Amino acid sequence: MKFQSKNPFNGDHIAEYTTLTTEELNGKLEASAEAFKHWKTTPLIERTDLLKKAGQILRDNLDEYAEIITLEMGKPISESKSEVNKCAWVCDYYSEHAEEFLAIETIETDASRSFVRHDPIGAVFAVMPWNFPFWQVFRFAAPTLTAGNTGLLKHAPNVFGCAQKIEEVFLKAGYPKGVFQNLIVHHDETEKIVSHDTVRAITLTGSEAAGSAVSQIASKYIKKSLLELGGSNSFIVLDDADLDKVVNTAVQARMMNSGQSCIAAKRFIVMDSIYDEFVSRFIEKAKQLKVGDPISEDTQIGTLARKDLADKLQKQVQDSIKQGAKLLLGGKQNECFHEPTVLGEVTSEMAAFKEETFGPLAAMIKVKSADEAFELAEQSKFGLGLSVFTKDIDKALSYSDKVSDGAFFVNELVKSDPRLPFGGTKTSGFGRELAKDGIMEFINRKAVYVK
Ligand code: NAP
Repeated sequence: MKFQSKNPFNGDHIAEYTTLTTEELNGKLEASAEAFKHWKTTPLIERTDLLKKAGQILRDNLDEYAEIITLEMGKPISESKSEVNKCAWVCDYYSEHAEEFLAIETIETDASRSFVRHDPIGAVFAVMPWNFPFWQVFRFAAPTLTAGNTGLLKHAPNVFGCAQKIEEVFLKAGYPKGVFQNLIVHHDETEKIVSHDTVRAITLTGSEAAGSAVSQIASKYIKKSLLELGGSNSFIVLDDADLDKVVNTAVQARMMNSGQSCIAAKRFIVMDSIYDEFVSRFIEKAKQLKVGDPISEDTQIGTLARKDLADKLQKQVQDSIKQGAKLLLGGKQNECFHEPTVLGEVTSEMAAFKEETFGPLAAMIKVKSADEAFELAEQSKFGLGLSVFTKDIDKALSYSDKVSDGAFFVNELVKSDPRLPFGGTKTSGFGRELAKDGIMEFINRKAVYVK
C-alpha cells in the first residue's frame, strides 16, 4: 500500500511512501528486541551523550527539518523552526537530568538494605499525530530511550517525511541500529505490533477515537498505555486583567499552529464588564495576522493540515451559528484553508463550546462572575489545561484546587515545558509526559530487598 505526502497549501506532491511488507515489519520488531538486549545495559552516560548529540543534530539541520514540517502539514515556517529548537531543548533537558531522575532510591525498611531501581521495560510503541510532528515524537523519545527502552514510531501518514527525518536524527547522532525505528505502516497493523513480545507499552497522541481503539488493544495484551488526546482549554479573563497584555496572549494562545494544538485556548470566558472591549481588541489583533504561504518567513497563519480538518471546523462554525452564535470575524473555508474566525455570544450548548475545535476559531463566552467562569470551564469532557488572567494572584490560585484539568496557568497561556509534567484528565487522556514524570512512565520501579 502507498501513502502520498502532499503540501496542504498548494496540493503539490512531496513524496510517496510504501508500507512495510509483513517480512520487513517482523524484521524491525526483531531488530528492536535485539537492540534492547544491549541498549538496556549501555551505561547511562553513553545514552545521555547520544541524546545530547541528537539535540545538536537537530540544531545543525534546523532549516531542513523545519522545511519538511511546513511542507507536509502547513505550519508557518517560523513556528516549525521553534518546534525543532524545542526538540533540541528536550534532548538537552533529559541528557542533563536523567542521572538524577533514574538514580537508585533508598528506602528504610526492616531489611538490611532496601531500595528501588529504575530499569527499562522494552520497546515503547508510539502512535503520533501530525500537528507537532517533531515535538510529539521527541517528547516521548528523549526520556524513553534515555531510560534504556527502545522506540517504535507509527506517525500520521501525512507526515511520513518528518518521521523519516526523525529516525535519521537518531542514526546521525550514533544511536545503535534498532534503538529507534520508524515504521511506515497502516494503522491496521497496530494489533500486530502491540502484541509482539518486545513491545511493553504504548504511547498515543491524537484523537479520542484513536486513543480508545489503541488503548483497548493495549489492554487486551495487558500492556500499559499513555494517552495524550484532545482538549478544549478555557482562557478566563477576570475584570481586573490587563487587557493590553491579555489580548496579545489570547490571540497567540488560539492562533498558534493555525489553531491546531491540543492545548490551544479554545473557549474564551470573559467577565461581562470587559467582554465587549476584549472581543473587539481580539478581533483587531486577529485581523492583523498575516495569512499566506506557510513557507514565507512572515506568515502567521498557514493552512490546516488536511481538507477534512478544515471541513470539520467549518461544520462546527456553521452548527454554532445555527445554534445562536454571532459570527464576528472570518467564517469562510477554501480547501485546506480556514479563515481566522471569531464567534460571539457562545453558550455551553453550542458545538464551539462542547467539541474540540482544531483550527483558528475563537469562541467568546460572557459571564457575570469568576465563580460562573470556572464552573463553565469545568463543563467540558476534556481536561488538559486552563488559563486565568487577573491582577489578583491569590484569587486566581484559590480556584486551582477546584479545576480538574492537568494544568492551571495564571497570566500565561498553557504551554508545554520539559521541566513541568504534561498531560490531561477526563477524555484528554491519562499519564504524564515531560519532567521526571515522563521518564518514569515507561520504567520498572523494581523493589530490591536484602534481608
Ligand atoms: P488521529 O486520527 O487521532 O491521528 C493520530 C494518530 O493516531 C495517527 O498516527 C493515526 O494514524 C493514528 N490512529 C488513528 N486511528 C487509529 C486506530 N484506530 N488505530 C491505530 N492508530 C490510529 O487524529 P486526526 O484524524 O489526524 O485528527 C482528528 C482529531 O484528533 C483532531 O480534530 C483533534 O481533535 C485530535 N488531535 C489531537 C492532537 C493532540 O495533540 N492532542 C493531535 C492531533 C489530533 P492514521 O492517520 O494512520 O489513522
